[in-house]
Amino acid sequence: MKCPFCGYDDSKVLDTRPTDEGYTIRRRRECLKCQKRFTTYEKIEKSPVMVIKKDGNRQAFDRDKIVRGMIKSCEKRPVSADEIEEAVNNIEKKIENSMRREITSLEIGDMVMEELKDLDEVSYVRFASVYREFKDLQSFVDELENFVKKKN
Ligand SMILES: [Zn+2]
Repeated sequence: MKCPFCGYDDSKVLDTRPTDEGYTIRRRRECLKCQKRFTTYEKIEKSPVMVIKKDGNRQAFDRDKIVRGMIKSCEKRPVSADEIEEAVNNIEKKIENSMRREITSLEIGDMVMEELKDLDEVSYVRFASVYREFKDLQSFVDELENFVKKKN
């Protein structure tokens, strides 16, 4: 970052603070040559979507995490890596189009299930069983019945 006064291109940061709810970082700098002070702003190019987890914690949306979850569910199933990529693209697009800054992990899970439903039934059931954390066999059977009903 060049000094606006003398053009020297090295400065030290005196103070860093987030503004605009953390989407902009403001830095107070001092030129190493002329010692004059100036301010720079760093903006996040695209505000990341935050995922609200079950325990209430927030985490930046992580596409790879979804891919990994889907690969696990699709293990030894006739679902190609390309199909998984495409499914995750669909999910990303849906979230982007919603223009939301926050989404719950539950909603993402539902979107994954929506995609898997069309791709492969076994993968769908595998994912559902992990993601829904079925407490007992009955709730698992209920989900399966729901699934079959939706399909027919
Ligand atoms: Zn300077």
